[in-house]
Amino acid sequence: MPTSLVTGGAGFLGSHLCDALLAKGHRVICVDNLETGTLNNIAHLRGDSFTHLNVDIIEPYFVDEPIDFVYHFASPASPIDYLRIPLHTLKVGSYGTHHTLGLAKLHRARFLTASTSEVYGDPQVHPQPESYWGHVNPIGPRGVYDEAKRFSEALTMAYHRQQGVDTAIVRIFNTYGARMRARDGRAIPTFLRQALQDQPITVFGDGSQTRSFCYVDDLVRGIILLAESGHHDPVNIGNPNEFTLLELAETVIDVTGSNSRIVFAELPTDDPQVRQPDITKARELLGWEPTVQLREGLERTIQNAGRDTLIGHRF
Ligand code: NAD
Repeated sequence: MPTSLVTGGAGFLGSHLCDALLAKGHRVICVDNLETGTLNNIAHLRGDSFTHLNVDIIEPYFVDEPIDFVYHFASPASPIDYLRIPLHTLKVGSYGTHHTLGLAKLHRARFLTASTSEVYGDPQVHPQPESYWGHVNPIGPRGVYDEAKRFSEALTMAYHRQQGVDTAIVRIFNTYGARMRARDGRAIPTFLRQALQDQPITVFGDGSQTRSFCYVDDLVRGIILLAESGHHDPVNIGNPNEFTLLELAETVIDVTGSNSRIVFAELPTDDPQVRQPDITKARELLGWEPTVQLREGLERTIQNAGRDTLIGHRF
């Protein structure tokens, strides 16, 4: 039975990854200090195949059993979180990645780090291929997240080139599904929470900025394929179907049968205007592409999360 260690395993994406790895027959060690995650996300994972270590990866940490795969997902990910804890975010991307790469080296494990489309910043190339170096404001409020992830990628490639660690980098584009927090500030949980209560839906700016939304099951499938490939360079995983925020709000109203109206709020600093992954590489290298489109993904999210969780009455 292969063993996978998942940092950030009690978070939104990490917990879905733990589910998928356990379903594949892996033993899973979840390393998470619950900074933005919750035990509720892993409460259903009991038994000999699953262990949770409450460890802050900013400090060095060790695991006393063989490990085959390391999935490095620990990091605040929502603007609400990384603007609240900017130094922590930089430390997780630097010290946390360093300690986790060191662990992978010690165990001769395959290491995969969760990077982000934010490394492209406010892109000047559209859609974004992996070869694009990005357009990031390093000193703006979002810079703590974007630059932590860019540093984390640089560190990963240095461990690969200098230390021979078997590494992979996934650049994740906006992903949604059950276990997102109702008040984490990201568009889909916010719109769902508002629509399910017939409250006004707050769209930033004029709503013409675009995003591409990937359903969590598609993402997790792509991540495991990448981890099991021998590929080292970054690979985009995301859904290339692009929507304006206004279209997203209208779709959420439609899917929920809500009476909400749309209102407009101030655009956050350095909010990217467009965002769409070029997934040619994932298609060619991994044979991967998303299969769940927005309406179906929203319906599944509502079904799996339940109304009470989505409106924030139950965690
Ligand atoms: P999340 O906040 O739900 O999960 C992050 C987890 O990391 C939490 O459980 C948190 O407690 C844990 N964590 C944070 N600091 C830690 C520390 N110092 N030590 C141990 N654990 C710590 O976020 P998410 O949306 O699941 O994102 C997971 C990863 O995927 C992040 O690295 C994020 O940057 C990346 N990502 C996510 C998205 C997305 O759309 N959700 C998009 C791009 C990239």
